[in-house]
Amino acid sequence: MKIETLVLPPLENNCYLLKQDNQVIIIDPSSNPEQIINACKGYEVLEILVTHHHFDHIGALKELEKYYHLKHNEFKNTFGYRVIKTPGHSKDSISFYFAKEKALFSGDFIFKDGIGRTDFPESNPLEMLDSLANIKTYPDDITVYPGHGPWTNLGQEKRHFALYF
Ligand SMILES: [Zn+2]
Repeated sequence: MKIETLVLPPLENNCYLLKQDNQVIIIDPSSNPEQIINACKGYEVLEILVTHHHFDHIGALKELEKYYHLKHNEFKNTFGYRVIKTPGHSKDSISFYFAKEKALFSGDFIFKDGIGRTDFPESNPLEMLDSLANIKTYPDDITVYPGHGPWTNLGQEKRHFALYF
């Protein structure tokens, strides 16, 4: 599986394209639908996945659903991923874990050197702690691909988690 990152407006969002053979999964179509469609040319789009429904992660979602005749988050489990519920930043926050590749797409749950904000009206700091406790049980050598900013390593991020408990 090849992981491509498109850094898109409005908040330097990471839109990920996971490509394997002639197929692709799109994660968090934040904006610029034409750019995403162009980057997926020649590939069969299997799924559109969304980590949570904040505006900056779904700006191109409607256009892509229409264009590809797909609905997002149908969880067809293509490429063998697992959905992990990671609420806290938002109620609906989920992460996608590809065990074979040891890759975790975390949305606004975990960033390099930080975690998602929990001061939004629909955030829940206590749920965030539960989500962190759960993800702590996953292997250290997982690469974390966040919704904003550079990728990181789960083992490295676990060292920061103690700050929040
Ligand atoms: Zn968010």
